[in-house]
Amino acid sequence: MIEITNLVKNYGTKFAVDDISFRVGKGEIVGFLGPNGAGKSTTMNILTGYLSSTSGEAKVGGIDILENPYEAKKLIGFLPEQPPVYPDMTVDEYLNFVYEIKHCKLNREKHLMEIRMVTKIDDVRHRLIKNLSKGYRQRVGIAQALVGNPPVIIFDEPTVGLDPKQIIEIRNLIRNLGQNHTVILSTHILSEVQAVCDRIVIINEGKIIADEKTENITRVVEENRKYNVKVCGPQREVQAAIKGIPGVVEVEATGERDADSYTFQVEAEKGNDLRKALFYAMSEHNWPIIGLEAVGMNLEEVFIKIMDADLARKR
Ligand code: ADP
Ligand code: MG
Repeated sequence: MIEITNLVKNYGTKFAVDDISFRVGKGEIVGFLGPNGAGKSTTMNILTGYLSSTSGEAKVGGIDILENPYEAKKLIGFLPEQPPVYPDMTVDEYLNFVYEIKHCKLNREKHLMEIRMVTKIDDVRHRLIKNLSKGYRQRVGIAQALVGNPPVIIFDEPTVGLDPKQIIEIRNLIRNLGQNHTVILSTHILSEVQAVCDRIVIINEGKIIADEKTENITRVVEENRKYNVKVCGPQREVQAAIKGIPGVVEVEATGERDADSYTFQVEAEKGNDLRKALFYAMSEHNWPIIGLEAVGMNLEEVFIKIMDADLARKR
């Protein structure tokens, strides 16, 4: 759905984007992760036709954004870093304005109502945008991106400046959008991509340093795997049985108790996926596993390691 090939953008001698290539398939939610100044906004602005590239190619739905900007832009809903809202309009006036400039053909009443519902802004539809809280204003920004129901959604740092509750709401909204849209979002927050995205593209100093499925990103660095496993059974015996599974480095009772079950943190040897072995070992004793999740997916650490590895390569 999105193809970026050898994209370069330089400002004088400064390469904001330095030979980036990646693809996003239909229906994927891809996170563009990188520190401030990495080149995320520049890439997104080129992809959405807001900025020209120095060289390289950006295509959306097979359409080149430079050759055919009008057709390509019809496929994209974009939330720029600074949402393009008009403070002196009401939410309704603004969405109608966007509907018109996009030459939207969908049933106006129905379409705008649906957008107000999914973005949860119906209750403020008659308010002036300048009087809205940052969270609502951001949702209005998202609403404008959804006008015309474009198949591709591009959000540049959609949760910046929001409080934790608003962040969760926006993430849920994005996840829901991902069910029938192709989504790219940028962020410098690692847990954000982890929570929302199928795939993570890590960018640093204008270059892609990792492009992985979210669950695989930890494999980029060699780390012992950890699991939280919740088992119904006698605490000591369960712990001893887990300890006896080949490949287990350590088992700790987390102290978390829930009726007749206990949670243990199990550390596995490098590259050893213990989940099946855990299942068989526990079922031998008739101790049901009622929860099992991988932990230690600390993207913060992963990110630092990947960047270090990248630096080491350059040296
Ligand atoms: P991000 O969105 O990842 O924070 P940007 O794409 O905004 O990063 O910026 C990438 C780099 O390009 C930064 O070093 C930034 O200072 C530089 N840059 C962006 N826009 C301009 C510009 N108009 N003129 C000069 N440098 C720019
Ligand atoms: Mg940016």
